[in-house]
Amino acid sequence: MLTVAQALSLLAASVSPAGVEEVPLERAAGRVLAKEVRSDVDWPPFDTSAMDGYAVRVADAVAGRELPERDGLVGAGSAPPPPLSAGEAVRVMTGAPLPSGTEAIVPVERSARAAGSVRFEITPKAGAHVRRRGESVRAGAALLSAGRRLRPGDVALAALAGREPVEVFRAPRVTVAVTGDEIVRGAGAPGPGRLRDSNGPMLLAECAALGWTALRGPAVPDTPADVARLFAVAGEAEDFLITTGGVSAGDLDLLPPAAAAAGFDILFHRVAMQPGKPIAVGRRGRVWWIGLPGNPVSAAVGFHVFAREALARFEGETEPAAPRVTSLLTRAVLPSAERDRFLDAALDASESVLRVEPLRSSGSHDLAAHGRANALIHVPAGSSRLPEGAAVSCLLLSR
Ligand code: AMP
Ligand code: MG
Repeated sequence: MLTVAQALSLLAASVSPAGVEEVPLERAAGRVLAKEVRSDVDWPPFDTSAMDGYAVRVADAVAGRELPERDGLVGAGSAPPPPLSAGEAVRVMTGAPLPSGTEAIVPVERSARAAGSVRFEITPKAGAHVRRRGESVRAGAALLSAGRRLRPGDVALAALAGREPVEVFRAPRVTVAVTGDEIVRGAGAPGPGRLRDSNGPMLLAECAALGWTALRGPAVPDTPADVARLFAVAGEAEDFLITTGGVSAGDLDLLPPAAAAAGFDILFHRVAMQPGKPIAVGRRGRVWWIGLPGNPVSAAVGFHVFAREALARFEGETEPAAPRVTSLLTRAVLPSAERDRFLDAALDASESVLRVEPLRSSGSHDLAAHGRANALIHVPAGSSRLPEGAAVSCLLLSR
C-alpha cells in the first residue's frame, strides 16, 4: 500500500495539462495562466502627480513665499507640458503628466491662490506626491508566471500589460457519479435501508467552489452491468470521472476490477491514510477515474488530498495542493501508527495566533462533524501523541 506522499508523487508524475485556450480578461480570474506575462510598458507610464496641487522645484517652494503660477492647468490625459522654469509653480491634477524638472507637489489644500500667483503653507520635501515613471513596474519586467491561478489583482496586472485575451490552461471537465444500491436522490423520503445521496451534491459543490464545472453523473446500482456501463462511456463528456462508493473490500465493491476490465490502468488502489484508505485512481488514455470511498467524510478527505490536486495539475497550476497553514492544537491528538490521519477541525484565525480544534467525530460517516470543519489537521503516520499547544499542519477546506 502506498503512503500519501508516494501516491501524490505518482499523481504529480502522471497528470499533465491538456491544452491552452484564450479567455477575455473579465473571465480570467480563477483560471490558470498558461504563458508568462511581461510588461510592455513602464508603470506608472510617465512621471505623474499623486495629488491635486502644484508642481514645483524644492528650492523655490518655501513656506510663505509667493510664486508665479503658470497659466492653465495640467489634468490627467493632458499632453505632456513644457518643462518647469525656475521659480515657477504649475497647477497639476492627480494623474497629470508632470513638467520635467518637477521635484515635489504641494497639495492644493496647503496652498493659497491670488491672481497669477500662489503661496504655500509648507515647504515640501523632495519627491513629495510625485510618482516616477516605472517606479512600480519597468517595461520588460516579469509580472505573472505561467501556472499561477489568477486573482483579481493579477487580472489588473495582465490588463496593464495589454494581455487581452489571456492564454489560460483548459479547465478540467468533471463528472460526479455515485454508486450504491442504497442511494436515493433528491428530497423524497428514503425507503427502509436506503439513504439520500450526500456525496454527489458535496463533490459538485467542492468543484464549483474551486471554479471547476462538474456535471451530475448517474447514480449507479451495485451490479456488474451498471458499473461496466459507467466505465464504458467514461471520457465522452469529461476529463475526470469522480465516483463514490464501491472501492472497499466488500462483496459489492465492484469498481476497481470493473475499471481495469474497461481498460483503465490503476495507478493505485488503497493509500495508507485515515479516513479514505480505499481510494483508487486510474487512467484510460486521456480520461481519469478517481474512485473515492462512499463514506462521506472519506470522500471529502479523498477529494481534498488527491482529487483537488489532480484536477489542479491537469489545469497546469504550479501550486496544486490544498493550501496549508500551521496552527496550534486546542487539545491533544492521539498518536498515528501506520497511516496518515486527516481530522475534521475548526481553525480559528480571529486572534494573533492561529488555533485549531480537532472536532469530536463519531467516524467517517459523521457529516455533522465534517459540516462544522473548515480545515483538516494532518497527523502524519508515526507521530506520537500531540499535546495541546503542539503545532500541526492544517489543510484549508473550500469556503
Ligand atoms: P461503500 O464505500 O460503497 O462501501 O460505502 C460506504 C458507506 O458510505 C456506506 O455506509 C454507504 O451507505 C455510504 N455512502 C455511499 N455512497 C453514499 C452517498 N452518495 N451519500 C451518502 N452516503 C453514501
Ligand atoms: Mg457501496
